[in-house]
Amino acid sequence: MNQSLFGLPKVELHVHLEGTIRREILEKIGRRNNTLPVKETGAFLERIYRSGGDLSSFLRRFAAVCHHLRSPIDFYLAARDYGKQLSRQGVLYAEIHLSVQIFTRRGIPLQPILSAVDEAFEEAYRESGLMLRLILDGVRQWGPGSMLELVEMAEGTRRWKVVGIGLGGDENSFPAESFREAFRAARDRGWKTTVHAGEAGGPDSVRDAVEILKVDRIGHGVRAAGDPSVLDLLARCQIPIDLCPTSQRETGAVAKNDIYPLRTFLDRGIPVTIGSDDPALFQTDLTNELSWLQGHCGLSPEDLVRVERNGLEAIFCEPEVRRRLGAIFHAGIRSWQRNRTD
Ligand SMILES: [Zn+2]
Repeated sequence: MNQSLFGLPKVELHVHLEGTIRREILEKIGRRNNTLPVKETGAFLERIYRSGGDLSSFLRRFAAVCHHLRSPIDFYLAARDYGKQLSRQGVLYAEIHLSVQIFTRRGIPLQPILSAVDEAFEEAYRESGLMLRLILDGVRQWGPGSMLELVEMAEGTRRWKVVGIGLGGDENSFPAESFREAFRAARDRGWKTTVHAGEAGGPDSVRDAVEILKVDRIGHGVRAAGDPSVLDLLARCQIPIDLCPTSQRETGAVAKNDIYPLRTFLDRGIPVTIGSDDPALFQTDLTNELSWLQGHCGLSPEDLVRVERNGLEAIFCEPEVRRRLGAIFHAGIRSWQRNRTD
């Protein structure tokens, strides 16, 4: 691992618990739940964890992972393993998305899932000081009614470290306007919000996320690079966007031959954060994303500090945690700047 990147205090704001589950962990879960084929397990898992393919093939692989998650302990195992991965990378804080309705619709109750995840988060904190929080993600193609249901379900979940409500899934299924009411309801109840926009959809989808859904942060947002007026909007409103380079290049949100538009956003003063999205499925992690940006977009040491500070400022958690984290983060940055060996 790049030692210099390891020592950098990091914040991960765009990652899905389902997409963090490594092959070994999924195999363990699948065997316990008898959801893996008895024969040719290896080939079956190979199909889930192979790289390449477009957005729809990725969504199939994501769904295939979800198929095996059947009981609260599965979520505990996933969150526990991912916490260890983050600690090894020097991550201080992460907000992890979970599309809970995929599971509640199958009859797994919400509270035991959140309780299991919370236990893993607590253990990670006791072990390494890593702070983990959860974002409950809606599924866009299930429509506005389902999103309103999620906002209802979220009531009373703050005690399980839920800090926000998001919306992912098929960006081109329902327009932002359909979700205006659900996002207003979430805001009225004091939730911070985020939405996946400008991934499969174009710059207008990013504009709608800001103007119609009034979100606090945007997942991806990368296609805003194609419209200067949307870039201006993001800069003016200082809306953070979570760029996830490997995911966006794998799914075709950014063509592999195109110059990755990191500098377009940084040069306009848009608060960019860096995420790994679905690290196990894209065979990456946060450190690798930063390393790739160093090599391909000239991400300088100053830029690294800037994107991590942007992440810190964009977090959704409660003020007390934010204060504590801020002190640790800034001390870590000072130490990193003193000791950097690149
Ligand atoms: Zn995502």
